[in-house]
Amino acid sequence: MSEFTNVVEIFGENVFNDSVMQARLPKKVYKELKQTIEEGKDLTLEIADVVAHEMKEWAIEKGATHYTHWFQPLTGVTAEKHDSFITAPKEDGKVLMSFSGKELIKGEPDASSFPSGGLRATFEARGYTAWDCTSPAFVRQDAAGGTLCIPTAFCSYTGEALDQKTPLLRSMEAINEQSLRLLKLFGNTTSKRVTPSVGPEQEYFLVDEKKFLQRKDLIFTGRTLFGAMPPKGQELDDHYFGTIRQRIASFMKDVNEELWKLGVSSKTQHNEVAPAQHELAPIYAKVNIAVDHNQLIMQTLKRVACQHGLKCLLHEKPFAGVNGSGKHNNWSLTTDDGINLLEPGKTPHENVQFLLVLSCILKAVDIHADLLRESAADVGNDHRLGANEAPPAIISVFLGEQLEDVLEQLVSTGSATHSIKGGKLSTGVRTLPDLYKDATDRNRTSPFAFTGNKFEFRMVGSRDSVAGPNVVLNTIVAEAFREACDILEASDDFEMAVHDIIKKNCAEHQRIVFNGNGYSEEWVKEAKRRGLPNITSMVDSIPALVTDKTVKLFEEFHVFSKAELESRVEIKYESYAKAINIEARTMIDMAGKQIIPAVIKYTTALAESINAVRAAGDVDVSVQTELLTETSSLLKETKEALKTLIRVTEEAAAKEEGCEQATYFRDSVFPAMEALRAPVDKLEMIVDKEMWPMPSYGDLLFEV
Ligand code: ADP
Ligand code: MG
Repeated sequence: MSEFTNVVEIFGENVFNDSVMQARLPKKVYKELKQTIEEGKDLTLEIADVVAHEMKEWAIEKGATHYTHWFQPLTGVTAEKHDSFITAPKEDGKVLMSFSGKELIKGEPDASSFPSGGLRATFEARGYTAWDCTSPAFVRQDAAGGTLCIPTAFCSYTGEALDQKTPLLRSMEAINEQSLRLLKLFGNTTSKRVTPSVGPEQEYFLVDEKKFLQRKDLIFTGRTLFGAMPPKGQELDDHYFGTIRQRIASFMKDVNEELWKLGVSSKTQHNEVAPAQHELAPIYAKVNIAVDHNQLIMQTLKRVACQHGLKCLLHEKPFAGVNGSGKHNNWSLTTDDGINLLEPGKTPHENVQFLLVLSCILKAVDIHADLLRESAADVGNDHRLGANEAPPAIISVFLGEQLEDVLEQLVSTGSATHSIKGGKLSTGVRTLPDLYKDATDRNRTSPFAFTGNKFEFRMVGSRDSVAGPNVVLNTIVAEAFREACDILEASDDFEMAVHDIIKKNCAEHQRIVFNGNGYSEEWVKEAKRRGLPNITSMVDSIPALVTDKTVKLFEEFHVFSKAELESRVEIKYESYAKAINIEARTMIDMAGKQIIPAVIKYTTALAESINAVRAAGDVDVSVQTELLTETSSLLKETKEALKTLIRVTEEAAAKEEGCEQATYFRDSVFPAMEALRAPVDKLEMIVDKEMWPMPSYGDLLFEV
């Protein structure tokens, strides 16, 4: 039934990668292009022409008829406009297939319909896409045929970033420069480049497509807005890591094959905590490629799901009452010659460079906790953060037993003299080998956890691009590195100076370290005592983007200008308001056109039955009467709540766009939505299932 897949053969077969370039490009052109990719050297049009020609020839062999500049505007999804390779027909009526260097390097999509947050008035429609040659082009095969996709950055006519990619590339420059300074201070003169390595783990839900199509909430908003809990939720923990059902397994097989062809190193797959929830993780890659690949992963999950009669839900909270979905952003710093700056070694207390790096990260995360929190803010993520299933909304760092002990030593005595060892893990079963255990256990409740040789930022929403969080991580750590390097480069006694910085960073920012249970109430109190911010909603997190501290940070590293930051603030408030508005209107639609009519039908049937039973003789109809009374009263409650929701949604539309409107949606519209949901979910438990106008949670979660 299932065909044999030669993974090695198909891996990267649709990618214009290094080996393809080496094989197809003239030596000189290949060398120049490599210099551009690796060292950022300018690319001449002459070279671009040759590359474009070869890229096109290769793409046509892969079945491509079109090319597109593939970019990531601030809509949260990718954008593309397809152009075929054909030239104008000649005299003989025939066409040629052509693709020039200019077309490869630069595109001019009409930018007026993408979010720009006031950066670009509608009449200044011009926007540019610029080839990001550090992320390889690929051919995507789908219903549209073959399309050569060229990863690009997207900016306005005046050079302001209108996308996720541009600031990301800028932040990579910042962290590269400061990391190289730091390495040099420790005597490393061989590493030429330091790049953040990122492995994002992607969570998602799969539901049956036919059932999905019967739910307007899923269609319009990606999450259920009504729905009573099924008799069973996730309490048995029987889904996590459970055997993967055949229908899902066959879906995963196709997803993997598609991704491997695109050069995405899809590696790990398993069932997640909630029923119908799963996870996919690739092997980590350079951050800009990881960001592109994560977009490809999300798109591929969606597309392949449709081919299997399924729908993939990437929303952070598709179902109330069971876990939502996130994305764990694993982050480390790697040199071009393979050194991981976050590798502590066996004896971290002796690894001074590591301790400096670590202490700088603590400082960065403490100082910019609000900004890091903002980077994970997303309308859907408001349902997760702080809701006992995802990390709390308070940023803290988990170091684990071994490193926390080293930190304690540093802070209390000024130097660390020993490291706790991992030791043997004895299973007590003679036939099983003894395992060497890690020096530290895991902590699933921490938003920012050190996991061996990387940090895992666990707040990110499942639907969100990982670009934003990594822009923040790269830049805040660059800032802390810079401050350390400034001191160290000016000091006569390096040993002393580095020791002092580590101690100072640790002492001043130890408050951000928390190894306990992040889900507990005590932590909320303790964090407050420590003065750590607890920002519980997206709307409240947005101002972190334009504090003096943030503007200074981003301007100094040329990652964002103040105008770019202000534009992002606008876009975020707007996207919040729009999302809640769509949800509210969907609820109004469903309640008015589907739910209330269904309940009326049910009450009518009940009333008719009461009359009929009564007419049949002297029979007790108290049960039916009680049901009728209860249903009618819930129906009334529903209708009232609906009226209120309609009113506040209209009021919201009249508010001034931006903070005021977003705040109104959160404080008035959102609660009105909850108030409508409550009686409807009760009604769902009473009304005849045959009459309920949409599939239930049980149908969606357990019958995939
Ligand atoms: P988990 O147990 O949390 O699933 P894994 O070890 O499986 O963790 O890794 C999860 C992700 O982290 C994968 O994408 C993996 O490639 C990535 N990863 C592993 N090491 C690093 C590293 N040094 N830097 C960045 N990401 C890494
Ligand atoms: Mg993980």
